Amino acid sequence: MSSSAPHPAPALNAEAYWMPFTANRRYKRAPVLFSAAEGMHYIRPDGRRVLDGIAGLWCVNAGHRRLEIVDAIARTAHELDYAPSFQMSHPLAFELAEALRQEAPPGFSNVFFSNSGSEAVDTALKIALGYHRARGQGQRVRLIGRERSYHGVGFGGLSVSGIAGHRKPFGNLLPYVDHLPHTYDRSQMAYTRGQPDWGAHLADTLERIVALHDASTIAAVIVEPVAGSTGVLVPPKGYLERLRQICDAHGILLIFDEVICAFGRIDGAFASSHFGVTPDIITSAKGLTNGAIPMGATLVQQHVYEAFMQGPDSAIELSHGYTYSGHPVACAAGLATLDICRREGLFQRSRELWRYWEDAAHSLKGLPHVVDIRNIGLLAAIELEPLDGKPGQRAYAVHQACLERGCLIRSAGDTMLLSPPLIIERAQIDELFSVLSEVLRADA
Ligand code: PLP
Repeated sequence: MSSSAPHPAPALNAEAYWMPFTANRRYKRAPVLFSAAEGMHYIRPDGRRVLDGIAGLWCVNAGHRRLEIVDAIARTAHELDYAPSFQMSHPLAFELAEALRQEAPPGFSNVFFSNSGSEAVDTALKIALGYHRARGQGQRVRLIGRERSYHGVGFGGLSVSGIAGHRKPFGNLLPYVDHLPHTYDRSQMAYTRGQPDWGAHLADTLERIVALHDASTIAAVIVEPVAGSTGVLVPPKGYLERLRQICDAHGILLIFDEVICAFGRIDGAFASSHFGVTPDIITSAKGLTNGAIPMGATLVQQHVYEAFMQGPDSAIELSHGYTYSGHPVACAAGLATLDICRREGLFQRSRELWRYWEDAAHSLKGLPHVVDIRNIGLLAAIELEPLDGKPGQRAYAVHQACLERGCLIRSAGDTMLLSPPLIIERAQIDELFSVLSEVLRADA
C-alpha cells in the first residue's frame, strides 16, 4: 500500500493508552488519528490529507517519511540491533558525534547522547553540577531557569522550567532553584517582527539573583534562546549577550536549550550562532533525527569536558548515561538527517523564507481575537484573546477547526503555534495562514 493511500480505519479501543499531555477523556470521545505521512502532509485513516504546520511536534524539520532516513534505520537495525554504550560502542556513535561537532559553534568539542530533550536537559544540568565539583566548587548547586520556559519533564528539567501548570501538580521539585523573569511584555513589544528592541535589561535580574544567593552557590543558568512551547518568546536584542556577560563575570555556566531552536529552525545548525552568543552547553533533540526515532544530544565546550578528564584514566569521569545512549539505529537516523539537511541546504532555508513567513504571519494582524503576533526563523505565534473564564479553549477550538480544514496548527494556552517542516513552499505558507485566517473570521 502506498503511504498516501487511505489506511482502513482501525477499530479503536482507546481505553488502555494513557496519553501524554492530553485531555484523555475529551480526546477519547472523538479521537484524531494520523495513519501515514509524506513530505509536508499527514494522512488521516480516511485518506484526508493534513498540511503539517508544526513539523509533528517541532521535530520533522526535513519533512515526513524521508526515505534516506527510513533506509538508514532499516539497514542499521538489520546489521546491529543494539550495542551497549557503557565501556564499549559502535562506529556510528563516533561518526555522529564528530558530525555534530562540525556543525556546532567554535569551541564545542564533545557530545553526550541520550534519548529525548528531557534527558538532554537533565544531562546538561548534571554536567554543570559535576563540572563545578570537579573544579573544587561543589557548593555551586543552584540552578537558574526562567519563567515561561519549557525544559522537558524530568525532575531536573521540570525544576528549572517555568510553566506553572506543569510544575504545580508535582509540588516537590529540586530545592536549589531560582528563576529569571520571562521576557514578554505585550505593552512593550506587541507585533514585533523578530527580536524586540525592549527588554535586554531583564537579564540584569540575574545580577540580583547572584546578589541574593551569592555566585559561589550558583552552578548554571539555563534558557531557551527562543522560548518555544510557551508561545515563541523571542529574546530582546542584547538580552542573551547580557546573560553571557553576567555568567562570565561570576563563573556560572550558561546552557542554551536548543531542543526546538537547533537544526535550522531559527537559522543555521544551532541558534547560538545566529544570535552570536556562545553558551557553555547546548541541549538538542527533535530535529536531530527528524523525529524518526528518539534521540537527544548534549554538546559541551572543551573546557567543560576537560574539567572531567582528571585522575586515573581507569576512572569513569561522568557517572551518567542511558542504556540507549548513542543507540545505533538513532545514530544512523541522525547521520542520514544531517546528510539531507546539508545536501538540501535546510539549515539555511529559514533565511530564504524569513520575510515571506514573517509577512504571512503578520497579515493576520487585525483579525478577530488576535492580540499579538511574534515570529523568528520558521517559528510564529498568533496570540488570541482568551474566552471569558475559559483559558485555552478558544485556541483549542481554532486548532480543531483548522484540522477539519486540513491544516495542523498547534494551540498552547491561547496561542496558535506554527513551526512547519523546513521544506515548506511559499504556496503552503499561504495555505496555512489563509486557513487560520478563515477560521478566525468564522469564529468572530
Ligand atoms: N526542551 C525544550 C526547549 C523543548 O521544547 C522540549 C520539548 O518540547 C524539551 C526540552 C523536552 O523534549 P522531550 O519531549 O523530547 O523530552
